[in-house]
Amino acid sequence: AINKEHMSFQAEAKQLLKLMIHSLYSNKEIFLRELISNASDAADKLRFEGLTDAALYESDSDLKILVSYDKEARTITISDNGIGMSRQEVIDNIGTIAKSGTREFFNSLTGDQAKDAHLIGQFGVGFYSAFIVADKVTLITRRAGLTPEHGVQWESTGEGDYTLETVEKKDRGTQIILHLREDEDELLSGFRLKSIIRRYSDHITLPIVMKKEEWSQESNEYKITEEDETINQASALWARSKSEITKEQYEEFYKHAAHDFEPPLAYIHAKVEGKQEYTQLLYIPSRAPFDLFDRERRHGIKLYVKRVFIMDDAEKLLPNYLRFVRGIIDSNDLPLNVSREILQESKDIDNIRAGSVKKILGLIEDFASSDKEEDRDKFTTFWKEFGQVLKEGVGEDYANRERIAKLLRFVSTHSDTDEQTVSLDDYVARMKEGQEKIYYVTADSLKAARNSPHLEIFRKKGIEVLLLSERVDEWLVANLSEYGGKSLQSVAKGSLDLGKLEDEAEKKEQEKEADGYKELTTKMKEVLGERIKDVRVTFRLTESPACLVVDAYDMSGNLERMLKSAGQ
Ligand code: ADP
Ligand code: MG
Repeated sequence: AINKEHMSFQAEAKQLLKLMIHSLYSNKEIFLRELISNASDAADKLRFEGLTDAALYESDSDLKILVSYDKEARTITISDNGIGMSRQEVIDNIGTIAKSGTREFFNSLTGDQAKDAHLIGQFGVGFYSAFIVADKVTLITRRAGLTPEHGVQWESTGEGDYTLETVEKKDRGTQIILHLREDEDELLSGFRLKSIIRRYSDHITLPIVMKKEEWSQESNEYKITEEDETINQASALWARSKSEITKEQYEEFYKHAAHDFEPPLAYIHAKVEGKQEYTQLLYIPSRAPFDLFDRERRHGIKLYVKRVFIMDDAEKLLPNYLRFVRGIIDSNDLPLNVSREILQESKDIDNIRAGSVKKILGLIEDFASSDKEEDRDKFTTFWKEFGQVLKEGVGEDYANRERIAKLLRFVSTHSDTDEQTVSLDDYVARMKEGQEKIYYVTADSLKAARNSPHLEIFRKKGIEVLLLSERVDEWLVANLSEYGGKSLQSVAKGSLDLGKLEDEAEKKEQEKEADGYKELTTKMKEVLGERIKDVRVTFRLTESPACLVVDAYDMSGNLERMLKSAGQ
């Protein structure tokens, strides 16, 4: 062989593969979905590059995916005439199982099979799912635009290393041959393979082609014929009308588009017509990805123009605080050669984005206010998984601030639960007569918030206080100065004026009492010197002897701690 190389996977890869095979085995058919999904992505990439370089099509522009099996050889083969890969691309894309974030990934594993399978799915072991059913995988590929002698053959038993050699490949694209494991013969059946394809890959827009089979009287079994048969509907799912799409089809499309293994929590499918025409099919996942807070992570919206795939990860299509949303947007108005730079400037995109945000918030609002328990459970799940991210929206999306604020849920002193269930509307409805502000305390843990000495006077007066302990909360309150005309007030800032909640007589009494401590406070000021701004007598404590407060316009103590720990 020419140029044959033996190479090893990274250390974590072996471990990852083992884990994957073990936790996905009960779902083993998904190997076919993953390989077909990759073939479909490869065709999308060719179409996109073909827009500017038609020569890449060579003389074959009829894009499709072929699936076949060989009972004697005990193999299943999946071929495509998509973009293919160069030698270096094989090394980078196939030889690198463990992508960035592997360590975080391992840390997030729980040992619970269902949960781990979900994480593994998200991590994108797509191609490697072949090893669930195969003990050897051969991949032969040639990149569009390279000549036939630049074919590459990759082969591995999935046990830590692989070989790579240069081969001749006449047709552009990728062929994957699975050498089945001992007990997987049931997969060597046209009927079985076709039903897996219909179930998982019906929404793929390319034809998935297999050979027709005919019953043979002589041998008493189905015989493979020479005639082709397209197994899937091969039309863009989102372009079909809603009534023609089953729930299962929506879910399978989601799994393909989001690289997820679990069904989504909810979805929106809408065609927008009028001045601008576009279709949106957007999903809220049922679980947060482990890298939700990783700045490098990909966004989840794919952009299409008139059914042609344009780009993955079109971050301009949704604001950052909705980065958990997955799906596609298909525009009828944008030019096919639209680039990321053009998107940055596009008014059309601004409108599509505003429309999508509206729809997503609307969906979440419907769950929050539904009288069906099932929907409210969905809201609860949503809030648990994505609440922290939604909070970012208060600062990021000025136009929708009130709507987002209405969806927020907090822990408060109203009950002992640590679940975030109190909405700002709940809080306002429970406000005491004469209470003008929404009070909150921020701390770096819920326990610290609950035990804050600042709460003593509020407890005594029976006033509810929101307990904020997530990192994003400082950002939230910095951007949400009021809700429904009521200002938000930290209980730890400034000299606490409980307004009408304190009667005049009480105030006079306090002033007189404070005068009696003048000597003491002056002395304390002398001793503490530069380290403090002021020493005041307070009536907000009922049990603790003293507490630290910051001035109304200074940084909160918690924020200061956070910035310090971040090295600022
Ligand atoms: P993902 O699809 O999430 O990127 P996979 O493990 O399924 O992860 O595939 C890894 C990469 O290998 C793909 O991103 C792609 O670059 C490459 N690849 C896999 N299958 C093909 C194929 N049939 N044609 C071209 N490239 C492919
Ligand atoms: Mg894939």
